[in-house]
Parts: sequence; structure tokens; C-alpha cells
Amino acid sequence: MDGNKKPDTNRKSETAGSKTRARRDFHRKQRSTSIFFLLCSLFTAFSLILVLVFGLTQRYLVKESYKQEASYAVADKGEKISDALKQGPPPMFGENNYSGYLRFLSASFEVQAVVLDDSGHIIFPREPSVDESSPEWEKHYNLSAKLDLLKANLSGDEDGVVLYEGDGEYVYGERFMLYGDTPVYLHVGNSLELMETTLSRMGARILTTALFVMILSFAVSFALSGWLVGPITEMTKKAQALASGDFNVDFQGKEFGRELVELADALNFARDELSKTDRMQKELIANVSHDFKTPLTMIKAYASMIVEISGNNPEKRNKHAGVIIEEADRLASLVSDVLDLSKIRSDIEQLQAERLDMSAYLDEILSRFSYLKEMQGYKFVVERDEGLFTIVDKTKIGQALYNLIGNAVNYTGEDKTVCVRLKRQSEEIFRFEVRDTGAGIKKEELGEIWDRYYRSSSAHKRPVSGTGLGLSIVKTILEKHGFAFGVESEEGKGSTFYVDFPLVKTLDSDTESGV
Ligand code: ADP
Repeated sequence: MDGNKKPDTNRKSETAGSKTRARRDFHRKQRSTSIFFLLCSLFTAFSLILVLVFGLTQRYLVKESYKQEASYAVADKGEKISDALKQGPPPMFGENNYSGYLRFLSASFEVQAVVLDDSGHIIFPREPSVDESSPEWEKHYNLSAKLDLLKANLSGDEDGVVLYEGDGEYVYGERFMLYGDTPVYLHVGNSLELMETTLSRMGARILTTALFVMILSFAVSFALSGWLVGPITEMTKKAQALASGDFNVDFQGKEFGRELVELADALNFARDELSKTDRMQKELIANVSHDFKTPLTMIKAYASMIVEISGNNPEKRNKHAGVIIEEADRLASLVSDVLDLSKIRSDIEQLQAERLDMSAYLDEILSRFSYLKEMQGYKFVVERDEGLFTIVDKTKIGQALYNLIGNAVNYTGEDKTVCVRLKRQSEEIFRFEVRDTGAGIKKEELGEIWDRYYRSSSAHKRPVSGTGLGLSIVKTILEKHGFAFGVESEEGKGSTFYVDFPLVKTLDSDTESGV
């Protein structure tokens, strides 16, 4: 029953997890607007604003220049009409036919010219058919309001000339004496009606143009954003395929501009790296499961032997128990390598830099190998300068050097000799070196041995317990420190791994130089 319950719980939490993810994706999609929509709306809005601003400015300028022209024209025409009236109507109009003459002048100058008496009644041109008490007359011929405005603008002189803006028109006004002693007022109006009509037509045209531009710019931006967003959508689909494990996708951005080409290159690079890691992970699982299986089989076999055969024979029992301990150690180191690498590579662990006497620290590291000297006859030849100080993360550098020395022990030749050197190179650098007398490393493998899970094919022939993670741990640690490191190897003669450390002054030498 218990066995049934467990998977149920797992399934539940999985469903809850995927629901949360789906909800998060949904909210993210809700929040973010598509580039396609943004481009279309921004481009359309921009061109619309451009047309409106341009159109309205034009309209304003046209209105201003029209008004100026209208005021000049009415002044000029007003003066000419006034001169003509003062000279009196020519004989062809009949004697004193001011009305006919003024109608003629109004028509020829395309203005509305009237002569008013002091109370605002039209003197010329009279319309004899209109009854003065009718509303028609009131509406068209009682110009007392206009006269009031004219008078208000005239100066106090007997005769006066004025130009002002009246009710929807520009007005030329003049007071003069008709028939010698009757003051009359000439009112010449140049209506702005034409301008209003022109402007309202212009406004309508601006709106039509804006509508047209809006449709056009929407169509253009639709095509443009489709052209831009298309490859991005394409890449997204491919990236999704990549995420689900398809390493054959090929990102292309050739004809779509530099940025997209760079993006495609970056994604192709990521694909290659992912596929490499994926391949190596698979290899690791194969390696690790093989490496786990061998010691486990041995442990089981020897434990059974103790139970069945050697339990009562102390000598044999100790020998068999020794094998079990050795195999358990192999397992432990395998597990700790895998854990170390994952810890170092995830950036959770920061470097804890400290000033360190590397000469002394090397002794400490070498002391961890002393059991090999004593129990298995390994020889360690150590050459070392004293007082070499540097700044490092002690534990991590200790681990890197331990791995390098450990490899030299594992891969050294029959003479079981490992040489370790720590030598000052210059004022700024000292070098750590570990040399073995083993089979060496093939030239074509020199670059690859630092990769995770890499194990040389020949390494498996030896009874060496390795995971292919040791050098990757070394590389990660040294790269994090920014130190130079490498390997020189000659097949059949052995390999030398080295690390260059920055040399820092000791407190003593500081004091010495200060004295
Ligand atoms: P392993 O656990 O297999 O030793 P490493 O990452 O430490 O893994 O090393 C990777 C590979 O590099 C080894 O499998 C081996 O082929 C090669 N190698 C490392 N050190 C030496 C050495 N001193 N001499 C020869 N080959 C070496």
C-alpha cells in the first residue's frame, strides 16, 4: 500500500508544479507585449502625429498669411474707393448716382462698400424696394453696430482713416464730408469667409491625408515587423526544439541584419556546448555506473567470502576485509569528485582568498600521500624554494594540487617516482610542477584531458580508479583564480603538469625592504 501511495504524491506535486509553471508562463505572456504589436502601433502613431503636426502647422501659417494679405488688400481698395467717391460719380452713371457708382466699385474691387450716415443707416447704395421697418432691412441694412465699431476705432479728428478687424472681416473705415457739410462714413469690408472656407477644406484634407497615412503606415509597419519578427519567431521555435533535446537545429540569421546573425551564432554556439555536455553526461553515466558497479561487485564478493570461507581464518579474513576497505575508498573518492565538481561549477561557492606560504602548504599536501610511500613504495622527489607566498583560496588550491599529484601517482611508471618542484621563476611568479615517469599523453589528447568526464582510452587499461573529473576540477579552480597552467608530455617518458602562481611579498620582506 505504501508503495502505491508514494508515486501518487509525486504525481500530485508534479501536477502542482506544472500548473504553477503554466500560470507563470500565462502571466508572463499577459505582461509582455509582442514586438509585432509594438512596432505596428508605434510606427502608425508616429506617422499619424507627424501628419497632424505638419498639417496643422501648415493650416496655421496659411491662415496668418491670408489674414495679412486681406488686411493689405482692403486698405488699398478702401483708399481707391474713397478717392473715387470724393471725386463724385462720372457722367456715365448719371448725376449724383452714388448708389450705382458704389455698387460698381464694390463689384470691381470685390469688396462690400457702403456709406453710412451718422446713425448707421446706409445712404449708398440704397435698395429702394426694401421697407425700412421690415426685419429684412433690419438684418441687412441697419449697420449701426458696424458704425459703432468704426467710430470706436476712429481717432477724434474730423476726418479719419482706420483699418481694423471686425466681425469676420477686415474693415477699411473713413469719415468724410459729403455735399460739403454732411459727415458720412465709408465702410469697406473684406470678408474672411473665403479664408474660412479654404481653411475648413484644408482641415478636411488634412484629416483625409492622416487617415490615408494611418492605413499606409499600418500596412508598411505590418510588413516590416513581419519581416523583422519572422526570424525571431523562427529562432524561438528552434530554441524550444533545442530545449527539448533536439541538437540538430540550425539557427540562421544571414540575411536579417548583424544583430540577428550574432544571435544565431550565439545560439549555435550554445547548441554545440549543450550537445557536448549532453554527450559527456551520457558518457559520465556510463563511466560512473561502470565505476560504481565494479567496487560494489568486489565488496559484495569479498564480504560473501568472509561469511562463507575466511570468517574463521584471521589472515585470510583480514586480507579480504582489506579489499573491501580499498573498494569502499574508491567509491567514496568517486562520489566526492562528482560532488566537488558540481559544487565548484555552480557559482554558489565564492573564492576565500588568503595570503599563503605555499612552500609550507606543499608539505601539508604531500603528507597526505605518505601512506603511499610507506605502504606501496612510491618515491617522491621534492625540490622547493622556501618562503614562496601567494594569495589563493587555500582549500581549493589544495584540492587542485592534490588532484595533479594524485594523477602523477596514478599514471607514473614502474619506478613509482613522482617529482614535485616549487621554484621561483621571476620577481612576480613562482611555478608548481609535478612530473611522472609514466606513458605520457598522446598529442591529440593533450587539449581534451581538461574536459569534464574525459578519460583517455588507455587509462582504462590500468587499474586506476578515475572518473575523468579530476582535471576538470583543477581547470575550474585555476581558471577561477586566473592562474596560468598547462601540461607538457612526451609519450613513453612521462608528463609534467604545471601552475604559475603570483608571488606576493611576505610581511618579513616588506619590513626588510622598509629598513
Ligand atoms: P581520471 O580520474 O581519469 O584520472 P582526470 O580528469 O584526472 O581523470 O584525468 C583525465 C585523463 O587525463 C585521464 O583519464 C588520463 O587519461 C589523463 N591523465 C591525467 N593525468 C595524467 C598523467 N599524469 N599521465 C598520463 N595521463 C594523465
